[in-house]
Amino acid sequence: MAFNIAIDGPAGAGKSTIARRVAKELSFIYVDTGAMYRAMALYFWRKGINPEDEEAVSAACDEITVTLSNEKGEQQVFLNGENVNGFIRTEEIGKMTSQVSAYGKVRQKLTQLQREMASSTDLIMDGRDIGTCVLPDAQVKIYLTASVETRGKRRFLELQEKGADCELGQICEDIRLRDEQDMNREISPLKRAEDAVLIDSSFMSIEEVVAQILKIVQKCRR
Ligand code: C5P
Repeated sequence: MAFNIAIDGPAGAGKSTIARRVAKELSFIYVDTGAMYRAMALYFWRKGINPEDEEAVSAACDEITVTLSNEKGEQQVFLNGENVNGFIRTEEIGKMTSQVSAYGKVRQKLTQLQREMASSTDLIMDGRDIGTCVLPDAQVKIYLTASVETRGKRRFLELQEKGADCELGQICEDIRLRDEQDMNREISPLKRAEDAVLIDSSFMSIEEVVAQILKIVQKCRR
């Protein structure tokens, strides 16, 4: 049976950085499910579909195929065969993703694909509903969080490094809005699974979080 690690948590908690490192340590595949939702949102955005129009979004789902590949340890996401890694990380697509990922048709499509991957492969998967809905039987579940201020500051520094013009207050506001949408939607809202270990990384380094997760995994594999 495959060994699965689920990491959930709000935007900017450092899930992908942490999950990538843990995957490397364990030689597991890392699956970033946010990228899959972002690829679908990119499709709707390019087609000019209104994210508030659930019927139109749902109808367009059948036109979309999302696939993943792993190149040199980095996940690549393909939208109908096109590698879209370079197009999905903008704030605009992030906002649209949070809107359309509330719809059942969008979630159904990706949940199925995610479960198929996890059934046969040792992997670490991060997202919002992995421990609660996608992989309820995952051997290890982590809920990784941090204060809005910490997450906002991290995101601000990241954007500044890339030379983007940004404002800390606005970034914190965007994060708050996205959390609210993700936590309050009807289907698969972001919440801590009852059996998930809570890690608040507000005052922890990346190394400390990685070490704590590896310890939890070791205990479970014994
Ligand atoms: O993790 P990331 O910021 O890339 O996710 C973008 C958005 O995708 C989230 O704000 C959330 O709305 C959605 N998402 C989701 N379920 C997941 C992963 C992401 O609804 N498993």
